[in-house]
Amino acid sequence: MKEGWEAVIGMEIHAQLKTETKIFCGCAANFGDEPNANTCPVCLGLPGALPVLNEKVVELGAKAALSLGLNINETSIFSRKNYFYPDLPKGYQISQFDKPFSSNGTLEVLTAERDESGHAKDWKPIKIHIERMHLEEDAGKNVHEGLPDVDKYSYIDLNRAGTPLGEIVTGPDFRTSWQAYDYVNHVRRVLQWVGASDADMEKGNLRCEANVSVRKVGEEKFRNKVELKNLNSVRFMQKAIEYEIERQIEAHESGEGVNQETRLWDEKNNKTKVMRSKEDAHDYRYFPEPDLQPLKVSTEFIEKIKSEIPELPDAMLARFQRDYDLTFADASQLVGDISLAAFYEATAAASKNARASANWILSELQREWNAAGNSAADSPVSAENLAELIRFLDEEKINGKQAKEVLIEMFASGKSAADVVKEQGLEQISDSGAIEKIVEDVMAANEGQVAAYRGGNEKLLGFFVGQVMKASKGQANPKMVNEVLLEKLK
Ligand SMILES: [Zn+2]
Repeated sequence: MKEGWEAVIGMEIHAQLKTETKIFCGCAANFGDEPNANTCPVCLGLPGALPVLNEKVVELGAKAALSLGLNINETSIFSRKNYFYPDLPKGYQISQFDKPFSSNGTLEVLTAERDESGHAKDWKPIKIHIERMHLEEDAGKNVHEGLPDVDKYSYIDLNRAGTPLGEIVTGPDFRTSWQAYDYVNHVRRVLQWVGASDADMEKGNLRCEANVSVRKVGEEKFRNKVELKNLNSVRFMQKAIEYEIERQIEAHESGEGVNQETRLWDEKNNKTKVMRSKEDAHDYRYFPEPDLQPLKVSTEFIEKIKSEIPELPDAMLARFQRDYDLTFADASQLVGDISLAAFYEATAAASKNARASANWILSELQREWNAAGNSAADSPVSAENLAELIRFLDEEKINGKQAKEVLIEMFASGKSAADVVKEQGLEQISDSGAIEKIVEDVMAANEGQVAAYRGGNEKLLGFFVGQVMKASKGQANPKMVNEVLLEKLK
């Protein structure tokens, strides 16, 4: 960022809560199904149909709110947000306005700047104020499709109409695009951890918007802000914010100024472009939803939900470093995803070698996952099987080079480490009698070198080791080979 300027960024995240059914009716909350398959009079907005709140939404909303440091309000009110849009059959969205489900939270987020190549450096915690998380229903979807020889046509799919959302709104607390990036990832992981949402941006069940403005360092007032939408991945969001910061600084410096408007990220051209200006801003005419009671939650309910929240990612990160003696970098990679963290813990427990488990997962296995498009969640090699491989290595049944080959075969065939080792005849020779025999054969076949070694050319030890390993097809225990050779060559 240009010297003398600072960015002011606030974030809004819409997370789809992971319920089986919609927020105010019994329709399945699946929007990949046949268009309009999951609809009923309530979510179609037919006259006279009445909404009934889904209790599961309150439960998942509470889990999300509590694990993001928010306070749940004893009473919250659903309100109608009025606007006209084809994908909104009722002409209003049921949301929450002045009395949201939860509010006033403080969240600590680990964040770091990145260097030119994108590597994070100097992770440190920042405190973010979360103003609120309210509950609301999602709208449907306008679908625009073209057919060969036919003009583009549009239709409306209301499968998504009425699926439950939690909208999480922060204060203008971020100063860099990377802080916003780390925050969204933090929220994404927490929501996945507690099972409140799949929180997958690519699938659209986590959507975010950024409010961006800039000001001179030391200035108290906020300048005009721009709302960034259409951010399909966390990385695009970060790029869009970065672009917008530079664009606004330039616009202020040139005297042109910044308009209060909504802009979209144009992925092809790597820039933001205007979607609509402030003049088109809606007046939503909120009023309390007359068909729903105020939502009241008891202290007992909140206590029960609190007791169900598992260890959160940051606490797990600290524990991995402490209990498994992992570096920050390794531990944070392992807690990057809930199934990866579980995979690691299962491997570490079964192998009794936490350090090696981290190394194997983050290097060899990760490489296989990447190449095959797998992850810890659907790994062809189970944690138990990887642990067995690590034990073989620790017990010196096989060597490191062989272990890597065994893993590749395990990955391809789905077989256990024991089966692959047996099939390939890889078991390491650790029988001293057998090794002595090979050493003697090698010495007998290389009398000249034996004489030279005994005459003082000790560098030849490497030659003998190589010959013995070759004769044993790589299966001799290298440590024992060394010991036996040193003894016999004396
Ligand atoms: Zn319905």
